[in-house]
Amino acid sequence: MVRRADLTDRPPPRSIDLATPSVVLVVVAHPDDAEFQCGGTLSKWTRRGAAVHHLVLTDGSKGTWDRDADQAELVERRRLEQVRASELLGGATVTFLGETDGELVADVTTRDRVCEVIRRLRPDVVLGHDPWKRYRLHPDHAAAGRLVVEGIVAARDPWFARDQLADGLEPHRPRALMLFEPDAADHAESFGPEDLNRKVDALLAHRSQWETTHLSRSSAAEDEAPLDAFRRREAELAGDAGRWAGTGLAEAFHLVDDEL
Ligand SMILES: [Zn+2]
Repeated sequence: MVRRADLTDRPPPRSIDLATPSVVLVVVAHPDDAEFQCGGTLSKWTRRGAAVHHLVLTDGSKGTWDRDADQAELVERRRLEQVRASELLGGATVTFLGETDGELVADVTTRDRVCEVIRRLRPDVVLGHDPWKRYRLHPDHAAAGRLVVEGIVAARDPWFARDQLADGLEPHRPRALMLFEPDAADHAESFGPEDLNRKVDALLAHRSQWETTHLSRSSAAEDEAPLDAFRRREAELAGDAGRWAGTGLAEAFHLVDDEL
């Protein structure tokens, strides 16, 4: 099955291209989620001087079809792949929370750990999964969405996670939250072909996921190499979002900037 950005029935975006942020935090469930969902946007922003930080919530330990895989080895491999991928996008730091893949829960303890990262890095823009996305199956993506939304609420309020304030961290309020794979897309970030290339290169750094994710998502035409089909699919997705936004290449988001 080839999944395309389902934007044909959406009204045009209410906004395109935020001013380039200084500090960005992208919060994802698994290694490779950030690259798939907002790699073009991150590439554009780092080229323009933004410091982009990644927070990966789970250890990615279920990311294989090999029943005999050494999970500790897989976790370490995926950490290295994520660090390489964020370097390819010009990123600054990667923080791994290390929750068990497939078992992420939006509880207060985990929310406060997300809050702590927000208060420490003080991003002006945060990106994450949309917790209100309908018909989503993967529990980690739903939980990660709740954790980013509720982590922001906790980070801005001095009565949440008060022990962090005693440790010298101050409350912090980002100016925008951008939800990717959105239930109701209303914002687009445009980018150039060089950003698409960097996005694909960063995606391909997740070598352990080619079989289960990258290549299984793109169906190669006859005589087409699987990697060429993957590149074509990513270009088509960026082109779909670009057409929706009336620009060349883009990624779609739901922008929350008035309730922060
Ligand atoms: Zn994921």
